[in-house]
Amino acid sequence: MTTSPLNLMTINGEPAVPLEAMPESWQRIVASDWMTEPRVYTAMAQVFLAKNQQGHILFAERPDTAHLKDAYCKGNGLLAWEAVSHFGEAFLPESYPDMQQIRESLSVNDQQNQERLALINVVNDLFNELGYDVPATFYWTFLHPLQRSDLFEVRSFRFSERDLGIARKFDAILHGGYVSMLRRLIDSVSSQYGYFLEHGCGCENHLAKLKPCDAPFTYTIPTEARQKTLRAFLWSVMEEYMLFELRSATRLVYADNLAL
Ligand SMILES: [Zn+2]
Repeated sequence: MTTSPLNLMTINGEPAVPLEAMPESWQRIVASDWMTEPRVYTAMAQVFLAKNQQGHILFAERPDTAHLKDAYCKGNGLLAWEAVSHFGEAFLPESYPDMQQIRESLSVNDQQNQERLALINVVNDLFNELGYDVPATFYWTFLHPLQRSDLFEVRSFRFSERDLGIARKFDAILHGGYVSMLRRLIDSVSSQYGYFLEHGCGCENHLAKLKPCDAPFTYTIPTEARQKTLRAFLWSVMEEYMLFELRSATRLVYADNLAL
């Protein structure tokens, strides 16, 4: 059920859907004590939903796009509701991975056991750094290669039957992760273990070993930039989740032996 687009409020001068019309998860989040900025994150979700339901975006405010505005608001309004519902759930503490349990579930007989452990350590270090200030799907995305028999397999989320169920939520994280300071932090943490977590826009997600020409590096998001970087990430993942279904994608990116 989407909320009626008529009863908006304003937050900091921007249109916002009232809290009581948001998915219930956000009513828990706004009063939470597990993340740094529960009120700001909730406000962002309220504004995100309002702007997309109402077309308060540059594209829909130009006179030459007026004829598209109704269709835009309808389509994006529905997709934005899906996005705020999804991330509301993803910020609840019970949605986050239990790293200890995942560690214990590894099989010592697995050929890639060491690599699997390294990946878990990377994600654990990221959790120590970012905690509940990024959605649970952030961690699940980077843990996902553990589900595969080969951590290094390059497999497109979009075109793999096996990944259709997780493609939208994980791809949103990977695209949102292009917020550069956050991306650099992820690369820095994984490089300490000898890996990079790759995402190419086919869209796949796999582990890659540092090559002889690569080097581990240390990077910390500057303290004064942390909150804004993570807010930018939240906005970005909501947009990416909303837009996932609208993206065309092509198998040509990862086709082998193209004979055209
Ligand atoms: Zn992608």
